[in-house]
Amino acid sequence: MSDLFKSVSYLSGVGIKTQQALADLGIVTIQDLLYYFPLRYEDLLLKSVNEAHDQEKIVIAGVVASNPVLRRFGYKKTLLIVRLLLDNETIPVTFFNQPWLQDKFIVGQETLVYGRWNEAKRSLVGMKILSATALTKTSLEAVYPTNKKIHQKTLIKLIKQAVTKYADQALETFDDPLRQKYHLLKEAQIIRGMHFPQNIAEAKAARRSAKFRELFLYQARLAQLKQKNAQQTNGISELYNQAYVQQFIQQFDFTLTTAQKRVLKEILDDMKAKSTMNRLLQGDVGSGKTAVAAIAMFAAVTAGFQAALMVPTEILARQHYLKLKPLFDSFQLTTTLLTSSLTPLQRRQELSKISQGRYNIIIGTQALFQADVLYQHLGLVVIDEQHRFGVEQRRALRQKGQQPDVLLMTATPIPRTLAITYYGEMDLSVIDELPAGRKDVATYWLRFNKLDQVRHFLQIQLSKNAQVFVVTPLISESDKMNLYNAEDIYQHLQKEFSNYRIALLYGQMDSEEKQTIMQDFQNQKIDILVATTVVEVGVDIPNARVMIVYNADHFGLSQLHQLRGRVGRGQQQSYCILLADPHNKTAIERLRVMTQTNDGFQLAQKDLQLRGAGDLFGSKQSGMPNFKLADPLADEQMLFWAHQEVQQLFAADPQLKKHYPLKMYLKSQSQTSLD
Ligand code: ADP
Ligand code: MG
Repeated sequence: MSDLFKSVSYLSGVGIKTQQALADLGIVTIQDLLYYFPLRYEDLLLKSVNEAHDQEKIVIAGVVASNPVLRRFGYKKTLLIVRLLLDNETIPVTFFNQPWLQDKFIVGQETLVYGRWNEAKRSLVGMKILSATALTKTSLEAVYPTNKKIHQKTLIKLIKQAVTKYADQALETFDDPLRQKYHLLKEAQIIRGMHFPQNIAEAKAARRSAKFRELFLYQARLAQLKQKNAQQTNGISELYNQAYVQQFIQQFDFTLTTAQKRVLKEILDDMKAKSTMNRLLQGDVGSGKTAVAAIAMFAAVTAGFQAALMVPTEILARQHYLKLKPLFDSFQLTTTLLTSSLTPLQRRQELSKISQGRYNIIIGTQALFQADVLYQHLGLVVIDEQHRFGVEQRRALRQKGQQPDVLLMTATPIPRTLAITYYGEMDLSVIDELPAGRKDVATYWLRFNKLDQVRHFLQIQLSKNAQVFVVTPLISESDKMNLYNAEDIYQHLQKEFSNYRIALLYGQMDSEEKQTIMQDFQNQKIDILVATTVVEVGVDIPNARVMIVYNADHFGLSQLHQLRGRVGRGQQQSYCILLADPHNKTAIERLRVMTQTNDGFQLAQKDLQLRGAGDLFGSKQSGMPNFKLADPLADEQMLFWAHQEVQQLFAADPQLKKHYPLKMYLKSQSQTSLD
């Protein structure tokens, strides 16, 4: 075995206690220690005080302007004050409890001091005096993340020992051509440069290579996972009936778009294969994901399996059920809706039929993966609006059948950067085309002083038989927030548009009531639907042509895009009116972008810039990798390179026969989980 994988206890000075303390930091082997990189360096750079930030550690050079003054406080406490003349400003420097420094300051002599800059007082809290040579030979002092059990200095000593003895044995992550192509350092150079750089340039170069290495290894682990999944032969091969599937497609009153056809083929090929499908289907709101899902589910049934469709809300589950059931009915398939609003008796009956295989298609909410739900022969699981579900919920459902194929669907467009990072172990299908004839939703942002115009506009639209959504952030009045609420707006509109039928919808309503209202809206028995964000995802009503959002600045960009996606589903021009008096720049920016583009990808990119990746996904939910050095957004280009190289490497050498060190490395990492 290579020394690298030996325990840190092989190093001198590591007893049981230190070993434990290191383990708490995640350092078990010598390799772990070699790659335990510093957070930052004590910046020993000479900096002009005008460039320094408050509390930044800097080095200043100046001439001692007067004799230092030493004050004593009680036992052992001292304060030394000396004034240094910099270019044309005198800076007071104070040292706490270092009385011996008094003799080192000689009036008229140039002196270098390292310390913490106080911007308000324009003074420095000195930490040490540097010799003049420090300037030319600024070796940087690494600062490590550590805990109370192990001291920074001990850590540095051990790392020094490990680096001296073992750095040259480190496994080369990159082969020579790759290293040359991207100007990367050899492993030992990375390690030395990260821990003990001689100068800034060396530290920077090492850091760049270390980041690349981190992204590359992560991509390699994803590629390996994907490979393992593909090699799995205990998955289900769904030998669907091609002719039936064609007939099923014929019955839609539209022809599939080229993009729908392409992703459908990708999905069906996966289903036929022996390996387990793990595919993410991404398509902007209204791109027609449901039709694709329905076809895939139908195909699974023709192969003799059950198929399940899980969605985040009851409204959506019911909508899918009502829309899909007739399609399946005409081919003698049996379909059921499983939600939490069934009575216990109904539920028991349904569960028994599901377990006996008397239903081919099961549609529902989270209720689908509760422990008591047993399937007879589940072959395909489709998860709609997948970003609404956590990793755990998805896993639970996946474990329901014998390795059923899984298709995740999302309308949250994921920029490529994030897709290859967060969904890297999945295959990706993208519907990048909307059905023909769709018009962009004309989007306007108005301040509340323009409400009269909005009313006028509403009047005109209603007279043209348009149906209208009105969305507010709150259901009822709140004394905490001065925002519009659905109840008030509902009452207002009833007075103002007394000739029209108006309804109120919110999440906490009882589900039968919700259902009736949605159905009435669908059947054009309601003209204006005042609602909270329950209508946010998936609701599909082609005659709804106006979306009005109150306090639009209180919604996120992807939420606004989802809301807007409720209209613009038919042939006629649709409108989205965002009402807001925003107070901050980001909110203004969000509203502006909404009026500028209907393209979900552009919005997602913008959202990322405005909010950062964590928020977009909800960091806990998505099982995001925790990079130590790299930032997938800031280091986007590097991420693409790493991704591309790993793909090529695995394609050319799937067994990693020519990349032994990488293989060894991945093996050593395989115990630790990816997230
Ligand atoms: P989403 O991708 O947002 O889930 P849906 O599946 O709800 O979109 O589809 C939106 C609307 O477009 C539905 O009314 C659906 O019937 C219709 N649709 C889907 N595919 C096509 C197509 N190829 N041509 C025309 N209309 C389509
Ligand atoms: Mg949908």
